[in-house]
Parts: sequence; C-alpha cells; structure tokens
Amino acid sequence: MFPQTHFLLPFFLAEILVKFNLLDHKAAILAGLLAVFIDIDHYVAYVINHRYKDFSVKRAWNASVIKQKRDITFIHHPLAFIVVLIILAILYVYNNSWLLIIGLAYFPHLILDGIEGGLRKYNPRYFRIKKYGFMIDISYYELVLDIVLIISIIILLVI
Ligand SMILES: [Zn+2]
Repeated sequence: MFPQTHFLLPFFLAEILVKFNLLDHKAAILAGLLAVFIDIDHYVAYVINHRYKDFSVKRAWNASVIKQKRDITFIHHPLAFIVVLIILAILYVYNNSWLLIIGLAYFPHLILDGIEGGLRKYNPRYFRIKKYGFMIDISYYELVLDIVLIISIIILLVI
C-alpha cells in the first residue's frame, strides 16, 4: 500500500492507546513514520538489484509501483519477522513504549501489504495518475480506507 495508508493505520491505532494513556501523541506520530520508513526496503532492494549503479528514488518508486513485482526485501522478509519478534520480546522487558511503537509500525504494515497482495488478485479498480514523474496506482479500496482512517483519527483527536 502507499505511504499515507502505512502512516494512517498505525497512527490511528496509536491514538487509541493515547486515549488509554499508554502512549503520547509524539509516539503515535513516530509509529506512523516508522511504518512508512519500513518501505525504504524497496529502495534498498532496487539499488542492490541495479548493482549500485542506479540510485534514482523516482525510478525505484516507479519500479515498485508499475511492475508490481516484489523486490527481495529485508524488513518484509519472513526472517525479519523473527528478528522483530526477538526485538519486541527484549523491549517487553525493558521499554514498553518502544514495544508499542515498533509493534504498531511493523504489524499493521505487514497486514496492509498482505491485504494489498490479496486485493491485486481480484483486479480491483485503480486510481492511476503520474505526478512529477512518480506513478501513483492506488486501489479505490485503499482510498476508502484512507478516508475512513482520517475521519476516525479526527474523531479520536476531538473527543
Ligand atoms: Zn511494505
């Protein structure tokens, strides 16, 4: 899914925890940003696949959007899942805030990517545009999810 969705879902979930005084707003934003950062994976994979000769963010972005092929990535790899679980287990003992921040960044990211992969099989309708050379190819399901999340976050912030 696209960065805004990767930000919005963990941010929304973290804001629920803010209501219970388990996190603060800064931590909620951090969880969202970290979730977006996970996709740096695709850029790193692109650079490696091009033998360190192409560092173009735009081409890396378009490669992962247009071709819809999954690069061999690290953070998205099943092995990373185990590494993250170990990190979370350590944080469970030492730092519960970071446990929540990393957990909220990581698991919703994987779930969203899983949903995206599943959706593509059904060929949903996509909203496609090209802005400043960057391809955007976003399913209407994702757009609806974004709107629902934004409304939910606003409600959470004002109540
Ligand atoms: Zn991802």
